Amino acid sequence: MERQDKGTYLLVLEVKEDQTIAIGRRPLTDFKKGTYLYVGRAKNGLQGRIRRHLSKKKKRYWHIDYFLQKAKVQEIWIKPDFFDECPTALKVKSLVKDSSSPLKKFGASDCNCASHLFYLPKGKGRLKSLRRTLSFEKVEIHGNQA
Ligand SMILES: [Zn+2]
Repeated sequence: MERQDKGTYLLVLEVKEDQTIAIGRRPLTDFKKGTYLYVGRAKNGLQGRIRRHLSKKKKRYWHIDYFLQKAKVQEIWIKPDFFDECPTALKVKSLVKDSSSPLKKFGASDCNCASHLFYLPKGKGRLKSLRRTLSFEKVEIHGNQA
């Protein structure tokens, strides 16, 4: 069966320097430099959603759009045809014990999660095992993020 262009995805993000960012109408929030994970879902158009995240020229709509003004996408993980983004967010939180959420309810306006964005201290070294544990596949990032 052909895989559908929809599912859950995870963005591995890098913030190069400590940043203070206004996420939509939320108060200014401090984001430490380092690695972040963002969990999202596309009910349809997963590829288009990913292209949108990689594109700098767009109207800012979601919390992640504001964060992506200052953060760079390092890796994209997908799980096609799965829509378990909230359980995935919970799992990230429990698997990465020292993770934190810089802003409450980031990307989680419509669900009961505390956040869909996690800061991972010493994040890079454990990404691969985390991705495997969560059963996500890594996709290639095409082109530069201009
Ligand atoms: Zn959620």
